[in-house]
Amino acid sequence: MKAAVLRESGRALSVEDLELPALAPGQVRVRLAATGVCHSDLSVARGAIPGALPAVLGHEGAGVVAEVADGVSQVAPGDHVVLSWVVPCRRCFYCVRGHTELCEHGMDHAFAGPYARDRDGAGVFSTFGTATFGEETIVPANAAVPIDPEFPLDLAALVGCGVVTGIGAVVHSACVRPGESVAVIGCGGVGLSALQGARLAGASPIIAIDRVPAKLDLARRCGATETVDASTQDAVAAVRDLTAGRGADHAIEVVGSPATMQSAFTMTRRAGTVTLVGASAMGDVVTFGAMQMMVDAKTVRGCVYGSTDPQRDFPEMLRLHSAGKIDLALLVSGHIALGEIDDAFSAMERGETARTIVVY
Ligand SMILES: [Zn+2]
Ligand SMILES: [Zn+2]
Repeated sequence: MKAAVLRESGRALSVEDLELPALAPGQVRVRLAATGVCHSDLSVARGAIPGALPAVLGHEGAGVVAEVADGVSQVAPGDHVVLSWVVPCRRCFYCVRGHTELCEHGMDHAFAGPYARDRDGAGVFSTFGTATFGEETIVPANAAVPIDPEFPLDLAALVGCGVVTGIGAVVHSACVRPGESVAVIGCGGVGLSALQGARLAGASPIIAIDRVPAKLDLARRCGATETVDASTQDAVAAVRDLTAGRGADHAIEVVGSPATMQSAFTMTRRAGTVTLVGASAMGDVVTFGAMQMMVDAKTVRGCVYGSTDPQRDFPEMLRLHSAGKIDLALLVSGHIALGEIDDAFSAMERGETARTIVVY
């Protein structure tokens, strides 16, 4: 099967023939139909997030189950599935407390050694344990969440990371309530999903902040009632202006840079909540004034994978789309082939795209 392999960070991906081993107990083989290109893939490709190499990236995929190991009963060949890069064990400290996104074993499969062999027989790793930048992949059965076979697989793929991260950040992490004001910094795939989540939650106003005017137009279609072009406006002052001078009830930071995290903190009202969603570079540090933190009684919280339970949320997101409550198609910037992921990375670095989808 063909896959886009990262051999060295900072270099282009190479499309190569890889061989998958026989299934181990509990595993399934999935033939991918589509995968989104997520900013975390770019971060690994550029070396901002470390990972064992050579590797196949990709963690936002959907496809059809091709084969299951003996004893696997959750899914069967022919099932349509969305892949989850966190695989909750449902038994550990965090899982039993409802934090399946923090499962102590949720990424074990990603660190279990090479998942495939290259032409020379050398091992190739699966960075996120899903390796969706390949025509086929092997994952634990619980990573393959069955969905309605009628649902288009290219849109379904987006649910596997960006959509549940963005909507989950608003609904499950920040727990936004009707009438609360929400500012979202960064209008890529996750940010546009967060805006749709804010609309779903009944937030008002919903303020979208980005530096690319085209994305702000898209942000309005995703639910933003106000937009702030941070390339020409002071985002903090603009948010204060839109919230009677107080600041937003919630700021959702999706960019993953210390500067925008700082802005998120400053644009939030006293006793407001800052939710940090964006994946920064390893080693980045953000500072908040200690006195300000105390006096203003703000809450700063991290949010991984939108506090998502894949088995609960993946099918739910698809139902919300089918019911017209969210629109996954608005996140799609274009469809590409496997050999064009580097172009998608470059466009993402220029801030031009929301989600580009590789179709197989
Ligand atoms: Zn992602
Ligand atoms: Zn667990």
